Amino acid sequence: MATLLDNTATISPSEAIKAGAADRALMRHPEKAKKADSPILRKPDWIRVKAPGSPVFKETSKIMRDNNLVTVCEEAGCPNIGECWSKKHATMMIMGDTCTRACAFCNIKTGMPNLLDVKEPYNVGQSVKQLDLNHVVITSVDRDDLEDGGAQHFVEVIQAIREASPRTTIEVLTPDFLRKEGAVEAVVLAKPDVFNHNLETVPSKYLKVRPGARYFHSLRVLQQVKEIDPKMFTKSGIMVGLGEERHEVLQVMDDMRAADIDFMTIGQYLQPTRKHIAISRFVTPDEFKSFERMAKVKGFLMVASSPLTRSSFHAGEDFDELRKNRLSKMGM
Ligand code: SF4
Repeated sequence: MATLLDNTATISPSEAIKAGAADRALMRHPEKAKKADSPILRKPDWIRVKAPGSPVFKETSKIMRDNNLVTVCEEAGCPNIGECWSKKHATMMIMGDTCTRACAFCNIKTGMPNLLDVKEPYNVGQSVKQLDLNHVVITSVDRDDLEDGGAQHFVEVIQAIREASPRTTIEVLTPDFLRKEGAVEAVVLAKPDVFNHNLETVPSKYLKVRPGARYFHSLRVLQQVKEIDPKMFTKSGIMVGLGEERHEVLQVMDDMRAADIDFMTIGQYLQPTRKHIAISRFVTPDEFKSFERMAKVKGFLMVASSPLTRSSFHAGEDFDELRKNRLSKMGM
C-alpha cells in the first residue's frame, strides 16, 4: 500500500539549503531516518555527464522559475540535467514537489503534499510555448491522497499544452494511480502522444525497491492504455544495478511485450544518498548493449539501453524514431 506521511516532518527549501547534505537527505525523506547508511560507490569511468551552466541551461531554468514549475530533473537530482537543459528539454513534474509514496530508490521529497495549484496547467502550457518545444514530457509525483490520483490534473495539463502549443507532441509519465477507477481511461482519452509508466525494477525486487506498488498492476496500467487506444504509443522502463538477475530482466521484456508496450528504457540505478537503497553493481556498457539487442529481438519498436538512459532522456528524438519504426513495420 502507499505510504502517507506526516507533513510536519517536511521542511522548507530555505531550511534545506542551510542544512548539511546528510541532514538534508533526512529532512526530505523522514521515513528513511532509521535506515542504516549505505556507502555511495565511486562511479566508473563510463558514467560521465556534461556540467550544467550553459546560457540555454540558464534560460530553461529561468522559464521554470518564472512559471513556478517543479522539474523532476532537479528534484530527482538527474545526472543528465546539463545536457537536457542545454537543449531546453526539461521534464516538468506536476502536482507539487512532495510524493505520497516512499520508494527506496527515489530522491523526490516524501510527505503529505499541498493542495493542487489550479494555475499549474496554464503555466505548463505557457512554458512549453516559451521553450518552443517539439516534444514535452510531463510527469508527476504520486498523489494517492487525491480521489482520482491526479488523473484530471493530467488531463487539464494536456489540454493546456494543446491550446498553448498545438504542434508540440506530449508524453506523459504517470504514476499507477493506485487502481483508482477511471483514472487511466481519463488520461488516455485526453490523447497524449506517448503514455509512459515505469515498472522500475524486476518483480522480485518490488518489496525492497518499490514497496508501495505492485508489479502486475503497473503492467496492467500499460496494457489498459492499449486496450482503450490501440494506436497510442506506450513506453516503460527499468533500472538495473539493484541486484536483479539477467534472466529476470529478460522476463520483464517478455512481460512488457505481452502487454504490447512499444518502447523500453533501461538505465543504471544511481544511489542519491546514503539512506537510499545501495547499488549492487555498475552494469557495463557491453551488458547494456546486450540488453538492447535482446529487447529488439523480442519485438519492441524502440529500445534505449545505456548507463545514463532515463525515461525522459532524448525523449523528443526517440519519439520521432518511434513513429518512423511503426510506419516501417507497417510497410509504409
Ligand atoms: S533525463 Fe529526464 S529527468 Fe533527467 S535531466 Fe533529462 S529530462 Fe530531466
